[in-house]
Formats: sequence, C-alpha cells, structure tokens
Amino acid sequence: PYTGPSADEILAKRKEFLSPSLFHFYKNPLNIVDGRMQYLFDENGRRYLDAFGGIATVCCGHCHPDVVESILNQVKRLQHSTVLYLNHAIADFAEALASKMPGNLKVVFFTNSGTEANELAMMIARLYTGCNDIISLRNAYHGNAAGTMGATAQSIWKFNVIQSGVHHALNPDPYRGVFGSDGEKYAKDIQDIIDFGTTGHVAGFISEAIQGVGGIVELAPGYLPAAYKSIKKAGGLCIADEVQAGFARTGSDFWGFEAQGVVPDIVTMAKGIGNGIPLGAVVTTPEIAEVLTRRSYFNTFGGNPVCTAAGLAVLKVIEKEKLQENALVVGSYLKQRLIELREKYEIIGDVRGRGLMLGVELVTDRQEKTPAKAETLHVMDEMKDIGVLVGKGGFYGNVFRITPPLCFTKEDADFFVDAMDYTMSKM
Ligand code: PMP
Repeated sequence: PYTGPSADEILAKRKEFLSPSLFHFYKNPLNIVDGRMQYLFDENGRRYLDAFGGIATVCCGHCHPDVVESILNQVKRLQHSTVLYLNHAIADFAEALASKMPGNLKVVFFTNSGTEANELAMMIARLYTGCNDIISLRNAYHGNAAGTMGATAQSIWKFNVIQSGVHHALNPDPYRGVFGSDGEKYAKDIQDIIDFGTTGHVAGFISEAIQGVGGIVELAPGYLPAAYKSIKKAGGLCIADEVQAGFARTGSDFWGFEAQGVVPDIVTMAKGIGNGIPLGAVVTTPEIAEVLTRRSYFNTFGGNPVCTAAGLAVLKVIEKEKLQENALVVGSYLKQRLIELREKYEIIGDVRGRGLMLGVELVTDRQEKTPAKAETLHVMDEMKDIGVLVGKGGFYGNVFRITPPLCFTKEDADFFVDAMDYTMSKM
C-alpha cells in the first residue's frame, strides 16, 4: 500500500515549488501512484481505466513487464551518454526502427522529446534545401521550443517568440473546415502560400496525419498527396510528425501518414516510442541525412542505452501482442459504439478518428457547432468519479481525446462508453 504524502500535500508543494503553468484536468486532481497496463491506481488503491495515457506516455500498457525488464537489465549494466562510445542498444533499436519504415527512410537520429525531434527535422529540411520557409497547418502542435513553437498554430501554445519563416496553411478539418472532406481543395492553399508568400522555393512542410492536441482532427482524405506534390515541386521536404499517431495506434497502419498513401522525406516520433521513457527520433533517407556532416548534431542523452533498450522492447511487444490488430479491432468497435451514442445525445456533434486515436466533439448546437466547453469538463470530471480517465483537447477545449494504451479491450471500450452514456443521461 501507498504510504507517501496525500493529494492535498502534493498539490500544496506543487503550488509553491513548481511552475504555475502546470495544469491538471480535474476539480480534485488525482494522485496516481501505480500503473498496470490500461489501469492507473490512486493513493487509496482505487482503480481507473486509462483511456488517455496511450499518447501521453505508454503504448504497450503501463509498466509493461517486458519493457520494465529491458530497462532494468540495461540500467544495471550501463547508462551513459549516446555519443563517445559504441553500444549495441542504440544500434539495435535504430535497425529495428528502420525496418518499420517505408521507402528509403532508414537513417535515425535520436532525441529526448518530440519537440527536439521536430526542431531537428526542420533544421535538416533547411540545411538540405538552403531555404528557410516552412509550412505547417493551423491547429497543429509540434512542440514548444523556438522553431517548433512557430510551427505550432494555436494561440495558447505561443509565448511571443518571433515567428520567422513559418507559414500556416488552411487546416483540412472535415468537421469545421470550409471545404468539408475535400482534401484537394484545402491543399490549394499550400500552393497559394508558395506562390504568394515565398520565393517559390520552400524548405518543407510539417504536419500530423491526425492532429492530437488539436482535437483528433484527421486530415481530409486526399490532402497529403496533393500538399506533398506542391511542396516537392517547390523543392521542399515533407515532414510527418508521428509523435501521436505513430506506433500502430491508428490500427489500419503502423504510421498515421500511411492511410493517405504518402511517403514522407522525414518522419519524427516520440511519446509512445519508449512506453513512457523520454525518447524521440527523426528518421530520414541516407541522402538527406548526409547534410548533418556539414553541421554536426550533438545530443548528450538522445538515444542513450537505457532509453533505446526500452524502445526496442516496445517494438517487440507491439509485434508479439499484435497491438496494431488490437487497435484496429477494438478501435473500430469503440468508434461504432460512440457513433451510436451520438444518435442518443444532441450534445455530441462529431465522432472521429482511427484505431485507438478517437475524438468526440461536444457542441451545444449542432447547426452552429457551438463548443460545449463547460459540459466537456463536467463529463470528464463525472467519468473520473465512475473510474474512467479520458483526455481533452481541441482549440475550444471541447473534444474528448480517447487514446488508451493499445492493450485496451472490447470490455474496456464497453465500460468507457457506458460511463459516458450514464454521465450524459444525468445532464
Ligand atoms: N508533436 C506532436 C504531434 C505532439 O503532440 C507533441 C506533444 N504534445 C509534440 C510534437 C512535442 O513533444 P514533446 O512534448 O515530447 O516535446
């Protein structure tokens, strides 16, 4: 049993000693002390079904025994910087990761986070092309350092940095966007930006396949092929940010971009890659990777032995436990049940997403699509009391983000929907 400080004591310390920008979702924040696969436990031993931890930290499940064992074995043997000496862990994981990539994407750079991965990817694109202009999508989240904050396009995540060289294109959002589900129409805006906002040459384009922080917005079909075509014509590189949609989450594919049939020039990843261990990666082709012989890239801990041992264990678990197939089967079932819930409650404006990356958008008026922000928070809080944790996102804070560990079962999906159904029935 847990014998540490209470939730109130921790909250008091957090208020005094930690950043005031840290936020918590609930009126009474949870003190989570244990994790086991798709479950979390508070200080009283109460169990919660975790329908959000999947992107935040884990893809295989909290404290997955195989991943824990790999980390322990490596940490007992050696932990060190990535650079300086040879070590098999980093080489083995790079090889395994490369085997999961399409095309000629096989050179891996490791980082500690998604932000670092995207910063590096953008730098590579700029070095390779000799251009500065990068295009990203409105409503995107790519990180919180100077360059990535520029690529991120939501006011809440910007802190007055000078945004140089980034243009934000129309978001191909099938629910709220002006062109509905016509991906090619939105992509014309990329061409317009190139024609009217640049020299006609760009460094590249960065986007998620399904926007996570942005509220599970799956880019309209046909968007990426058309956008990539314009970018390539302007000499730019296409960067796929797979920090949230990667690692089998979408079920239909291993990577989010694959559903649109494109092959990027650079792929970035983090979060689920290490099942909770700080790790990020940039994967590109040997030809593009070559530019980093002109200007070296140094990262003390990116891809250190302990983190890459975790990464390799994650890939093995995804394979051994058929987690991609599970994401497809359970995700489709869960989505169907949520669509049925939409028939029952006017407040559900949209159900969307793919595999175990699903979104439920709440609106007070289906015609006007007025964001139901307060109601979203209320449902979240009530579901927590029933024992279900769900995420929240979207520019208006009115979208449930359902991104559980990939070991989520059909029974978990039923419990999740029943909890949401019960909560909405009481509103
Ligand atoms: N890209 C995407 C799509 C993300 O969701 C995030 C984190 N929310 C990042 C990049 C940045 O990752 P990190 O927080 O590890 O820096």
